[in-house]
Amino acid sequence: MPNTMRMKIASSFYHLRKRKMLARLDALDAHQWLSAAEIRAVRQQSLLALLEYAHRFVPYYQNLFRSIGFQPADFAADPRAFQQIPPLTKSGIREHYDQLITTEPARRATLIRQKTGGTTGEPLWFNKDTTYRQYNVAYVYHNMKWAGWQLGRPQFWLWGHVPHDSETRDGQVSVRKRLSNFVANRFDADAFVITPAGMEKLARQMENKPDGIFWSYTSTAFQFARFLQERGHTIRLKGVYVAAEPLFDYQRELIERVLGCPVFNNYSSIDTGAIARECDRHNGLHIATKNCHLEVLQDNAPVADGQAGEFVITTLLNYGMPLIRYKIEDWGRKSARPCACGRGEPLLEVVEGRKIDLFKTRDGKIVYGAFAKDLLPTLGNVKQFQIIQKSLDLLIFRIVAVGPIDRQQMAFIETVSKGALGADVEVKFEFVNSLPATPTGKHRYLVSEVP
Ligand SMILES: [Zn+2]
Repeated sequence: MPNTMRMKIASSFYHLRKRKMLARLDALDAHQWLSAAEIRAVRQQSLLALLEYAHRFVPYYQNLFRSIGFQPADFAADPRAFQQIPPLTKSGIREHYDQLITTEPARRATLIRQKTGGTTGEPLWFNKDTTYRQYNVAYVYHNMKWAGWQLGRPQFWLWGHVPHDSETRDGQVSVRKRLSNFVANRFDADAFVITPAGMEKLARQMENKPDGIFWSYTSTAFQFARFLQERGHTIRLKGVYVAAEPLFDYQRELIERVLGCPVFNNYSSIDTGAIARECDRHNGLHIATKNCHLEVLQDNAPVADGQAGEFVITTLLNYGMPLIRYKIEDWGRKSARPCACGRGEPLLEVVEGRKIDLFKTRDGKIVYGAFAKDLLPTLGNVKQFQIIQKSLDLLIFRIVAVGPIDRQQMAFIETVSKGALGADVEVKFEFVNSLPATPTGKHRYLVSEVP
């Protein structure tokens, strides 16, 4: 089909079916060009509105604010009062889950629940309201435009789909999804089960699509680039977006060379949505300031820009389940310098997962060990888990279950693991009554015993 026809179809589709999302996209496109001072002013307003909402509708914050003697008006009078609010930990979310959800009936009715593996190995649930979900989608498109991509141009996704609790998991792509993929010019491939045939198909779809964008996890994008190189494919795209895992220089270098376009690093999570993303200057990652307020703390006190610390995030758009000063368990540092692109959103210099998160393969690859973390809760009745790389040939999932487990899904996770670590790797599931904590009392959900 000619390109102009495609663009027309896609444009009609977005205007008919995604009108609200397009409005959010316009808002994000405008927000990025505000000055740093304007962005700080918007952030103060957003934080105040969120605190007032939480104070009015969210029982956890009502109780917390009462117990520490905090009022949203204190923050309006002096922004430093924000520091009085104790950070929210993952175990805090687990403990106070029901109380973190809004009691406002109209908004409650729009919530969708989604769960993640959580970094401590116990599944965590998050609730997302409609506005926030529209913004989540808009952020992806907004981000893609930074590479010069336009709505209706091809988009290739080598991605794993983590189902919502409202979805079925039969692995079938619905007719409706196929149709919307067609009009949006979108191609999906499953990153949880990567086969040479699947990669070959994706490579063919990418041929002669210089306006296209490719999204994947960092390790899968790298794996795909190596495949293209081995097979001698010549692919030229507009940009590659990588996410969910640390990006190493050797990975960026190979992906850029093989796919003939820049790599854009992206930092986001199921818990919080967009956090930060790289612009075309590749000088760091601009914080997604409309969606989140990011603090860098050491021993619970803010550090100066340029200094490393742990990230504490406040989500500004999701009133369905507000996360105020949430310890996401990542760390890194903010930059003090502005970006040459002219955007006022401040830069993050580095985002680090912990080194412990990395597994090795027999052929010398480094794999982010958390690859199966979001899948494990789909077994059902998982209270806690640990993923242990015992040796280059043995991976163990240790699971504390509180009821029956989905056996079919176990087989699926085994396939995914072999895809990530190698077909010859043995995958074992061990069901245990409890998991040991580390000497500091913290539970480690990823353990590598490979030297
Ligand atoms: Zn920039």
